[in-house]
Amino acid sequence: MSEILPMRTETAQVHLGAIALDKAYRKGQHRVPVLRGVDVSIGRGEFLSIVGQSGSGKSTLLHLLGLLDTPDMGEVRLEGQRIDDLPQTTRDELRNRIFGFVFQFYHLLPELTLLENVITPLLIRCSPLEYWRQRKNFRSQAMEVLEKMGLAHRIHHRPSELSGGEMQRAAIARALIGKPEVLLADEPTGNLDARTGQEIIDLLSELNEREKLTIIMVTHDDSIARQAERIVRLSEGRIQALEEAA
Ligand code: ADP
Ligand code: MG
Repeated sequence: MSEILPMRTETAQVHLGAIALDKAYRKGQHRVPVLRGVDVSIGRGEFLSIVGQSGSGKSTLLHLLGLLDTPDMGEVRLEGQRIDDLPQTTRDELRNRIFGFVFQFYHLLPELTLLENVITPLLIRCSPLEYWRQRKNFRSQAMEVLEKMGLAHRIHHRPSELSGGEMQRAAIARALIGKPEVLLADEPTGNLDARTGQEIIDLLSELNEREKLTIIMVTHDDSIARQAERIVRLSEGRIQALEEAA
């Protein structure tokens, strides 16, 4: 019993995992393999970075992990349960509830204010009646998360009136409002200068440390990647090497 216990504990702590993921895209007649047997797992509350060159399949992997796309082979597991093969509506619900996404180019809706942008994920989750009933509550949740991101003074501004760093902080606020279990960040500093990028990394580290949020960040930049707790490298369609971050 005592021999198997540590093993069990370890297994139970795996929050999200990819097992032997294969993914290829079609280009005309050709099938271009991108992921060829990717195995990776992240523990609950861990901050993992996946580093790799442009075109190595980082975004593809993140999309598979976050149920934005389906693998050709292999499995995605959440707490040991397979989730990639669930019916579409279940996948959509799960994605909405479990994952928060942050992208390189923010993807804020230009015609909406920051407050409205941040509320959007809650709006998508419920019926119009439910939304109407909850609107004050939703608004205060959005205010709270925008304040936490240092954007309390910007809530009525539109994205075009903000700096890149502010837009990314708003995008993080939008990712957090649904209280996700796992934050998936795709080159979150890729469009920012070094100093602003560092502020975003510091913010992610803080969220990870304070709120024990599980974070997977992909980046092509080694110096950014090294700031996570653990790094894995994606190369030639596989996870190549494990390196301990500083
Ligand atoms: P990364 O994020 O590491 O730059 P991607 O996952 O975006 O890499 O892309 C990996 C490879 O797959 C690239 O060669 C890219 O051109 C190709 N690719 C990505 N998405 C598609 C798609 N929807 N259709 C066809 N090819 C794609
Ligand atoms: Mg990419």
